[in-house]
Amino acid sequence: MAENEGMLQVSSCLLGGIGVSPGIAIGRAFLLDRAKLKPRGRKISSDQVVTEVERFMEAVDGARLELESIKEKTLKKGSVEVVGQHNYIFDVHLMMLKDKMLIDDTITLIKEKKINAEWALNINSAKIIDFFKQMQDAYLRERQSDVEHVSELILRHLSKGEYDSIEKISRGVIVVAHDLSPADTLQLDPNRVKAFVTDLGGRTSHTAIVARSIEIPAVVGSERATEKINGGDRLIVDGIEGKVIVNPSREQLLTYQEKRAQYDKFQAQLILNRDLPAETTDGFRVALAGNIETPEETESIIAHGAANIGLYRTEFLFLNRNNLPSEEEHFLTYKKVAESLPPENTTTIRTFDLGADKIAESEQFHEDTINPALGLRGIRLCLNHQEIFITQIRGILRASHYGKLKIMLPMISGLIELRQAQTIIAEAKAALDREGVPYDHKIPVGVMIEVPSAAIISDKIAREVDFFSIGTNDLIQYTLALDRSNEHVSYLYEPLHPAILRLLHQIITNAQEAEIPVSICGEMAGEPLYTLILLGLGLDKLSMNAISIPHIKQIIRQSSFAEAREMLAESLQMETSADVEKFVAEEMTRRFPETFLMKI
Ligand code: PEP
Ligand code: MG
Repeated sequence: MAENEGMLQVSSCLLGGIGVSPGIAIGRAFLLDRAKLKPRGRKISSDQVVTEVERFMEAVDGARLELESIKEKTLKKGSVEVVGQHNYIFDVHLMMLKDKMLIDDTITLIKEKKINAEWALNINSAKIIDFFKQMQDAYLRERQSDVEHVSELILRHLSKGEYDSIEKISRGVIVVAHDLSPADTLQLDPNRVKAFVTDLGGRTSHTAIVARSIEIPAVVGSERATEKINGGDRLIVDGIEGKVIVNPSREQLLTYQEKRAQYDKFQAQLILNRDLPAETTDGFRVALAGNIETPEETESIIAHGAANIGLYRTEFLFLNRNNLPSEEEHFLTYKKVAESLPPENTTTIRTFDLGADKIAESEQFHEDTINPALGLRGIRLCLNHQEIFITQIRGILRASHYGKLKIMLPMISGLIELRQAQTIIAEAKAALDREGVPYDHKIPVGVMIEVPSAAIISDKIAREVDFFSIGTNDLIQYTLALDRSNEHVSYLYEPLHPAILRLLHQIITNAQEAEIPVSICGEMAGEPLYTLILLGLGLDKLSMNAISIPHIKQIIRQSSFAEAREMLAESLQMETSADVEKFVAEEMTRRFPETFLMKI
């Protein structure tokens, strides 16, 4: 490896990705990369050598302590077989931290070449990896990944303070990360972070959803962002079209400054319809509601022109902490949301949907599985941990005395789960009655229709609940068999796939026959391209993130229910998703050129 390979180089390039949160941001990159740190190379003076060697040895010690602690935790938790395997790997890595080739040779490089520890480690580990690569023996060849892993661990300890900590993010930066969990994303402060870019991620992942909620532009699934971007690079992030420009030219900067101004003007104009109803030109009204992850977002929902909360994702109350919320905390949180809305408006509280990409730190929730989206998630987890579920239900019921609330159950796949959950709710009510605690005895209980089995038997489910809300994010994920968090299959996210249109039609017809209200609260509800199709389906309500509300309202107000029904009828006759997409895109572009031609 050339010695200057760890040095910063200013080069410009364009990266593609999935624009998941609209807006344009221009700023400097801040690398928050837990997986692959890029060492910054730096020459040091002779009198800095001793301190640099000490800094390196401290990082090696830190890495050793971290490995030992993980090893201990694994020993406590896992099965004998799994523990045996992990232990072996930990031992190999711990041994490497004492290895002469890795440690002593790095120190020699620091001393002889007068370079910083990151640079020296980088040169040295590359040499060792090359050495293992040439081995005939497959087992020995494999050891290169152990060297990579241990070097990255040391680098992480070396770079603490400079990278890798959300709290350390400086003001006005664009965060660049290999991946961000929904819990990490929730911790990003929109006053400090202008935008974020990740290598991984899908269109309807919860990370994308949180980005829209906190209203910062985001591009996910860019695959090579952390490889191509150095900390401090100037970036343009276009969250509308899913582009990232690294070290842009002057012309590019001017173009995007203009595009940003145009986008801001468009948004400011839309917000003017804030207090008008979402009613078509021929008098069909759809209720627009907001999706929130935290009580604080309620204000933004109201400011954007909706007065009901159609989906409160309460699982976010469980994230970024290592204990569980108490009944009192549940009660006070939901009471706060209920009281922040006008008394005639409603908050739909979804009971916690942990699992898949939303993992709470509390030990009870850790499931050792390779396929979490199909594992213990949503209502399955609640029924497996009934004491945690009951605590939440009691909190919701008590809060229902202070404002209109509804209970919504996630991930219901059939009537058995539904009835079990209803029994728990009935028991919680009976207990509150005995204790003389007031609550709304008529609190509606409904379900999310987001598992294909529930959609297929939605006629039967409709007879036993008070309302439906269709979770298109999961319904699409499970029907089309695509992982919603995986950038490689995001091209298969096709809300207009004939199978999805047919299912939506079937669910809505079944709800209407059972005379229960039906809404959509998946991301599809907030995407302007689909508004007329959803309108044509005759939904009662669309629930979405705050920033989408004015735009969707404008499209509804400029359309007629009759034309929406026609567009739907024609789409339902088509054979492929490509046919429907083309037809809908053409129709929408003709009607709303400003939205679909300018891509804002
Ligand atoms: C959905 O699946 O569409 C939904 C609204 O729930 P979530 O995105 O939280 O899974
Ligand atoms: Mg869902």
